[in-house]
Amino acid sequence: MAKRDYYEVLGLSKGASKADVKKSYRQIAMKYHPDKNPGDAEAETKFKEAAEAYSVLNDDQKKAQYDQFGHAPEGGMGGNPFDGFGGGGFGVDLSDALRIFMDGFGGGGGGGSRSRSRARGADLKIKLPLTLEEIAVGVTKKMKVKRFESCSDCSGTGARDKTSKTNCTVCHGRGEVQQVSRSMFGQFVNIQPCSNCDGTGEVISNPCPTCSGDGRVRKESVVSAKIPAGVHAGNYMTLKGEGNSARRGGQQGDLIVLIDEKEHELFIRDEDNIYLELGVNMAQAVNGTELEIPTLTGKVNLKIPAGSQSGKLLRLRGKGIPRINSHMVGDQMVKIQIETPVKPSKKEKELYKELAEYYSAQKGKRSIFRKIKSLL
Ligand SMILES: [Zn+2]
Ligand SMILES: [Zn+2]
Repeated sequence: MAKRDYYEVLGLSKGASKADVKKSYRQIAMKYHPDKNPGDAEAETKFKEAAEAYSVLNDDQKKAQYDQFGHAPEGGMGGNPFDGFGGGGFGVDLSDALRIFMDGFGGGGGGGSRSRSRARGADLKIKLPLTLEEIAVGVTKKMKVKRFESCSDCSGTGARDKTSKTNCTVCHGRGEVQQVSRSMFGQFVNIQPCSNCDGTGEVISNPCPTCSGDGRVRKESVVSAKIPAGVHAGNYMTLKGEGNSARRGGQQGDLIVLIDEKEHELFIRDEDNIYLELGVNMAQAVNGTELEIPTLTGKVNLKIPAGSQSGKLLRLRGKGIPRINSHMVGDQMVKIQIETPVKPSKKEKELYKELAEYYSAQKGKRSIFRKIKSLL
């Protein structure tokens, strides 16, 4: 099922402010809250949909990504095993939706409702610098990541052996405690992870010596990421479950890969197009010529038409950068720069003298003054 536009879900127009997002979400969430619509599946869907839209549009980074790329394509990124850009592939279940709602508006002084029902490892962020050549065609990159990984000696449990664990007496092994809080609808039963056992339901009496009961160890691992063509500096990719392991099991965090663009020695990029300056001499500009030009994917021949002026832009179609999530490909623009000999040789001086005599004879045929077209 195609996802509805997040702004549409909240009844807003594209690019609406954070204050409007919050206000609209609050109205919709209150209207469709499950406590007010018991057993109403449609209301529950609307409640979840609004929570998802709010969780993206209320987060500056996610909102910027969403504004630029919209929903992540479904399977559109060439076998990309990850969830695409900007946290796409993201969906919320009812408990997530309730948590988002409680985080946004609930609590009313009760506090402490932000935790998840079970510990989750921290997300990690890594910067990935790419060359324009890599960006032009897409690339698979291997990255060294220092992170917490599950301890293999205790299988992530933190216990020396099976007998060194006992049920937590606070939550009676459930890992959760119930807390009643008030909100604008009346009472809420809020379920929180047990702090005595970190939500595991068990207390370790004899910890694993390798990880000292943490259930995880620090390691350096190699993670690979398939980067589609056309990314920009500031884009990011979420590698699910490649972040830190949680203490004593639980869900693994994500690895956020932040794309950076390396400066190129020749080309500059303007969105999908790349620009190159080409110096030609007077004779080449007057007579025209064909020259071998570098592009991001190898060399090509470029015809310089006879009578080319300095500043003229020649276009190599499709030699730029592909647009992400699209079939469009940018162009390479080549700017002609006519070069005047700085230290002319004797021979050049003679030839230019001859030209000068020829031009003197032509004097007065064409005005040499013109109004500047633009100051840029
Ligand atoms: Zn261990
Ligand atoms: Zn407990």
